[in-house]
Amino acid sequence: MAKIINHNIPRRISSRHKIESLKSRVNIVAYIMQSMQLDDSSFEVQKTNGDDEYRCLCPFHDETEGSFSIYEENQQYYCYGCGTFGDVLDFVEARQPNVNNVNEAMAFLESTNALAAGAIVAVTPRTRSQLGPVRSEQIEAWHCQLIDRSWLYERLITDETIDQYQLGYWPQKKAITIPFWTGNIGASPVNVVQMRSLAPDTKRKYFGLTGFYGTAMYNQFLFNANSDYLVVLFGTFDALLALQDGIPAVSPNGANQYHADWTEPLQKFKRIYVVPDLGNESELKAAQLFADKVGKTARVRQFPDGNWGKDFSDWRLDGRSADDFMDFLLSSEHDGSF
Ligand SMILES: [Zn+2]
Repeated sequence: MAKIINHNIPRRISSRHKIESLKSRVNIVAYIMQSMQLDDSSFEVQKTNGDDEYRCLCPFHDETEGSFSIYEENQQYYCYGCGTFGDVLDFVEARQPNVNNVNEAMAFLESTNALAAGAIVAVTPRTRSQLGPVRSEQIEAWHCQLIDRSWLYERLITDETIDQYQLGYWPQKKAITIPFWTGNIGASPVNVVQMRSLAPDTKRKYFGLTGFYGTAMYNQFLFNANSDYLVVLFGTFDALLALQDGIPAVSPNGANQYHADWTEPLQKFKRIYVVPDLGNESELKAAQLFADKVGKTARVRQFPDGNWGKDFSDWRLDGRSADDFMDFLLSSEHDGSF
C-alpha cells in the first residue's frame, strides 16, 4: 500500500517531555495575570488565605466577584463559577483565538516574548506525586454540575451510585468526570480524575486533567476487598456497573496500562479473572499480558459468543444478569482451566 503523506497535518512538536519542560519555565499565576493585563490594565490577581491560591475575575464567564482560582502549587486553574479548569497550555488554548491544540499552545507560548520577557517567574518542576490529591471542592463542584444524568442512566448507572462516587460534569469540555477513589468511596484522596467526553465529534473519548492522570486502576480500593476473586474489566463504566451489581471489578484506565505496584495486592486473591471485550484482538493481547504479570492465579476469560454485545455493560443492557456473568466466570474453575 502506498504511503499517504498529508502535508496539511501540522508537525507534531509536542512530546510529553517538551510539554513538561515548557511548563516548568512558566508560572501560571504570573502568566494569567500578564496576559489578562494586556487586555485590561486594571485586571487584578489576589492572593487568598490559602497557601498557594490566587483569585481573580474569571476570564471565561461574566462575573463581578472572583470565582477563578489559580493554584500555584499544582500550576492549575479552576473556576468555581463555570467549572473551567486546566494548566497554562489549556489557558492559552482557551483564550487565544488561533490556538486550537496543545502544539499550537506551546508554539504560542514560545513565540510571544512571554517566556523571555522576565514577567514569567520560573518555578521548580514538580512531579505528579508532589501535586497532592485533587481538591475535594473541585470534585464536588463538578458533581454539582452534573444536571443531565441520562447518559449514565442509559448505562444502568443509578442515582445512588452517581452520588456516592461523586460522578460529575465539566460543561466546557462536555465531559463526565470520574474520580478514582483510593480508599473509601467519596471520602478518600483522589489522585486521578478521568473524563469521558460526551461531545459527538470528539477525537478522544477518555482523557484526564493534566497533572492528575497516568496509569491508574479504577476501583483500586477493591485491592483490600474481602473476596476470593477479583474481576478485571477493560472499561471504567463496566467496572462501575459491575460493582454496583455486587461484583468486585476493577479497570485499568487503558488496555495496555499496568503498574508494577499492582502485582503484590493482586496476587493476594485466589483468582483474578481478566475479561477483555469480546472480539477485540488488541485488548485480548493486553489482557494476556496483564494476566502474565499477575502470575498463575490470573486467567483471561473471554465472554461467550453471541449477539448480545462486547462488554459487561452490553451484557447487562441485553437483559442478562450479573449472576449469569459470575456463573460463567466461576464455571472456568470446574473445566480445569484453573
Ligand atoms: Zn468562570
